[in-house]
Amino acid sequence: MNLLNMAPDRSLGVLADFADRNGLDSYRTDQIHRWLWRRPVDSWSDASNIPAGTAEILNAEFALPRLELVSRQESSDGTTKFLWGLHDGERVESVLIPEGRRRTLCISSQVGCAFGCVFCATGTMGLIRNLDPWEIAGQVRELLVQGAARPSNIVFMGMGEPLHNWESVDTALSIFNARLGFGIGARSITVSTVGLVPRLADLAARPEQFGLAISLHAPTTAKRRRLLPVERKYPIPDLLKALQQFKRRVTFEYVMIDGVNDLDEDARDLAEIARPLGAMVNLIPLHPGGAADYSGSSTSRRRDFAKILTSFGVKAIVRRSRGLDIAAACGQLRVSLERDGHIGAE
Ligand code: SAH
Ligand code: SF4
Repeated sequence: MNLLNMAPDRSLGVLADFADRNGLDSYRTDQIHRWLWRRPVDSWSDASNIPAGTAEILNAEFALPRLELVSRQESSDGTTKFLWGLHDGERVESVLIPEGRRRTLCISSQVGCAFGCVFCATGTMGLIRNLDPWEIAGQVRELLVQGAARPSNIVFMGMGEPLHNWESVDTALSIFNARLGFGIGARSITVSTVGLVPRLADLAARPEQFGLAISLHAPTTAKRRRLLPVERKYPIPDLLKALQQFKRRVTFEYVMIDGVNDLDEDARDLAEIARPLGAMVNLIPLHPGGAADYSGSSTSRRRDFAKILTSFGVKAIVRRSRGLDIAAACGQLRVSLERDGHIGAE
């Protein structure tokens, strides 16, 4: 049985039953559980306070599967990209972005993605498969097993569409947030989504105040359709209605593309959507790598766009590019390695 695939309260229950069956004192349950997420180990035999005989039974009953670290690249700005190998030979990435006292880990939820946004490298792969909960949470667990500090923030902005793999993401959110898991505050965990309207209700139904980022990228249905095919299924008016279920503040992600979505009128249309929701706008530089041959807006254009939003009372943040020298944008490591022929036909 894979304890790493369960929400922490459930794995605690399984271990309580295990302790019972094996005649262990009940305090052992929490002691054993601690080695799953709070102080992760490679094997039960490495758990210092568990007797060797118990560790042997644990190893036989509850294997602790690992992700394989295929490569680790550190950018000159400290951004570090991890490429993980999965058991079936697939690959996903995470990116660690240090910023002051924050250590934000950008994680993947799927291998590839079904939504084909035209500027996104992951989108060119199509959906290969969903990640299991342990493969999502494993992206943090591996860092801890290797002795790194716990990330302070988690963002679902790596490969994949988290709400398209809701069942796994639902469990992974519990693992990240629970006191018996990694204990990362809900407000420090952000789900980024292209806006799958029916699944937004599932996220809204969770009592924790997880952060929500909506990949909007265009302020009108006509413009968004050109960039995000999902707009045909879940158009902006339906999306805005679904966002009213959230009591918390929403962030709009907005990749700035020269001459496509960065006009003055786009800023005004965007303000009209964002203001009633009290949403904040993240203006993101376009990274190379998608299917369409677009160029990013200039820095001055991004600043002017932000100024228009601000003048309408909408908070806007102009993001810097992080890790560009190692191609740390969405899905790029995987795609660039495939081009070089290092991975692919395994
Ligand atoms: N599928 C989810 C989460 C993963 S993508 C989503 O789309 O929200 C994370 C963010 O990276 C999204 O806002 C996405 O639009 C953005 N992104 C994708 N390709 C990009 C690129 N080439 N340059 C900049 N941002 C990009
Ligand atoms: Fe998928 Fe997000 Fe990339 Fe769109 S931007 S293709 S939803 S990963």
